[in-house]
Amino acid sequence: MSDVTIFDKIINREIPAQIVYEDASVLAFRDIQPQAPTHVLVIPKKKVARFSQLADLSPQDVGQFFAGVAKVAAQLGLDKNGYRVVVNNGRDGQQTVEYLHAHILGGRSLTWPPG
Ligand code: 5GP
Repeated sequence: MSDVTIFDKIINREIPAQIVYEDASVLAFRDIQPQAPTHVLVIPKKKVARFSQLADLSPQDVGQFFAGVAKVAAQLGLDKNGYRVVVNNGRDGQQTVEYLHAHILGGRSLTWPPG
């Protein structure tokens, strides 16, 4: 069993977050340190720690996670101008919270490549 993270506490409503979307499969909330005008994190309710452990989820759960990301981005009004979905994985990927999460970044023209 993996360690309890800040995102476990958000999903269990033990600490507050600005929740923007929830369904049976995913929870989405605003990042506490936004890197773009819109910066929302989406987590699957069935937990894995990292993207590299995605195969531990069922194909259905993986699909619902990614479909949830797209749905949240659309609900945030980002479809017209576009947005970026980022998943940091492990040390070199600068992952700081060991609960799989997708960052949705939008609301401005983003630069490339990332640092
Ligand atoms: P990572 O670096 O693991 O890809 O992203 C973790 C993200 O979680 C960071 O962007 C960070 O700002 C965000 N974060 C860390 N702690 C909290 C918190 O308590 N609440 C919220 N809403 N976001 C957090």
